[in-house]
Amino acid sequence: MSSSVDPVESSAVLGSNATPGPILLLGAPGVGKGTQAKELVKIWGIPQISTGDLLRGNVAKGTDLGKLAKEIMGRGELVPDSLVNEMVAARLQEPDTAKGYILDGFPRTLPQASWLDGRLAAQAGTLPVVAVSIRVDYNQLLRRITGRRNCPVCQAIYNIYGKPPGKEGFCDVDGAALVQRADDTERVFEERMRAYEAMTAPVVEHYRALGRFAEVDGDRPIDAVMAGIVSAVERLRQ
Ligand code: AMP
Repeated sequence: MSSSVDPVESSAVLGSNATPGPILLLGAPGVGKGTQAKELVKIWGIPQISTGDLLRGNVAKGTDLGKLAKEIMGRGELVPDSLVNEMVAARLQEPDTAKGYILDGFPRTLPQASWLDGRLAAQAGTLPVVAVSIRVDYNQLLRRITGRRNCPVCQAIYNIYGKPPGKEGFCDVDGAALVQRADDTERVFEERMRAYEAMTAPVVEHYRALGRFAEVDGDRPIDAVMAGIVSAVERLRQ
């Protein structure tokens, strides 16, 4: 399956009247949750909700939340649950979430997971979440994170090792100078991995135990990982 799977094919994937419902993409920093979410948005026509992107938006706008989150994110630690839950609650009020959404980077702690489970259980007619965890080994993640460069204009994601732009340092799409996220350094990566192991690995086990869970190998080309996620969601929605 290619990354240009069209919506007709995707409705066949999930049954003609089916909506994808809430989907969680889980996995360590750098496994490709953001990249995959952007592809899945095109297939299913539901929004990506990335708590990292929402927080960076708040930092850029200088909101109270952004001022608080900036320092924490810079250290690779987690922003307090209550603040992130509140931010997600506001985003889930938007009408574009009615048919489902792809949560990318949330829930990252067990309290966030129980908050989300409780919220979904209280909403009549909402499909239960399905969770897909992407798995990639540590050294590969380090290369992905420290090599990552982003276009600040169109949000395209490159990697100086695996997917370099045609002209070093500049976006292929719009020619903008690429930037590196402040937390994509080796030192901050190690802290983010520590936070992942301590706080987020138990979330993966939580959804595994609930049964509506699949794991895919993320150490493959983008299209192959995406095909794995689509078929996992199809299986879990049957
Ligand atoms: P990401 O873009 O998903 O890698 O997130 C970047 C940073 O934002 C993380 O290292 C955390 O500091 C913060 N962050 C993102 N999502 C969450 C979350 N669900 N809970 C707490 N902090 C988060």
